[in-house]
Amino acid sequence: AKVWILRKHFDGFPKESDFELKVEQLPEPRDGEILLEAVFLSVDPYMRPFSRVRMKEGDVMIGTQVAKVVQSRNPSFPVDSHVVSRSGWRTHTVSDGTGVKLLFSDWPADVPLSLALGAIGMPGLTALYGLEEVCELKAGETVLVNAAAGAVGTVVGQIAKLKGCRVIGSAGSDAKVAYLQELSFDVAFNYKTVPSLEQALREASPEGYDCFFENVGGAFSIAALPLMKPMGRIAVCGAISTYNDSAPQSGPFPHLTMIMNQIRMEGFMVARWEHKNEESLRRLLAWKQEGKLKCPEHVTSGFENMPAAFMGMLRGENLGKAIIKA
Ligand code: NDP
Repeated sequence: AKVWILRKHFDGFPKESDFELKVEQLPEPRDGEILLEAVFLSVDPYMRPFSRVRMKEGDVMIGTQVAKVVQSRNPSFPVDSHVVSRSGWRTHTVSDGTGVKLLFSDWPADVPLSLALGAIGMPGLTALYGLEEVCELKAGETVLVNAAAGAVGTVVGQIAKLKGCRVIGSAGSDAKVAYLQELSFDVAFNYKTVPSLEQALREASPEGYDCFFENVGGAFSIAALPLMKPMGRIAVCGAISTYNDSAPQSGPFPHLTMIMNQIRMEGFMVARWEHKNEESLRRLLAWKQEGKLKCPEHVTSGFENMPAAFMGMLRGENLGKAIIKA
């Protein structure tokens, strides 16, 4: 097996030298065990903040993959079946089934398996739960989402449109903005080139926002919070603009607006609603098959390119879900 190791804890933006590629000899699977071969691997923003809390130097990089069962001594995982596995950045894994989930046996042949890491996987679930469970989104409301052209953001915008909402999204390039317009976002803008974030947000929705699906944090947050409508809801999903900071950003937090407008701001982790995943993945898959959910992907070929794909995603090179084809 080839494995990517966290050689050194990231200090600021990750560097190629923080990673090390190693070759590992795997044991034969014993009774109850399976041998997995990675087909698609995921790079996700959480790997940056979680590297400090979930990994020590020398550990295999954490992560999820779609893998094929190539040997099996466990009847729950037949040879040639496909699974989503929390194996980390590895080409091959011997597993006792912990953290391994079979893909739906009726997964449609025309739906790429890689979507199980994106729109019909963890990022899609994050979008769905953030909107339905945290924002309690209602038809006719105005929704703001940032990092809108990414894995989570593209699904957020499309679900909000399906539910009859007005959707405003921001992203970091003109090509991404054009794509959001194709997805029928009502307004999309490039946060890197607008003269003023606050002005762009005000112009996009002069009457303010009912829901804010927050992926970015930092200056964007500070500009958006005062524009929330009374009884507005903010689903705090991520804060990617801060993940590579060595020191916390300081900035005025708009307490008074939060109080006067009775805004609810709630951080959440997708795993809170794990008990609903099966049914939710079925809903996402149905939307995909009915042509209601587009699932863009940014695919990098080659396991050896995982660090480059990870750093590229953090820099914003991906439109849609960042995936590695093993
Ligand atoms: P994306 O596919 O959106 O990729 C990350 C994107 O973030 C980049 O493409 C880039 O797009 C944008 N970005 C990077 N740096 C900045 C910056 N300084 N300011 C603004 N945007 C930036 O990733 P995901 O969809 O997987 O994740 C989106 C967010 O959701 C992340 O914050 C992540 O941590 C969070 N998340 C939270 C979960 C939870 O359970 N709470 C679960 C899954 C994800 P651009 O070109 O637009 O800058």
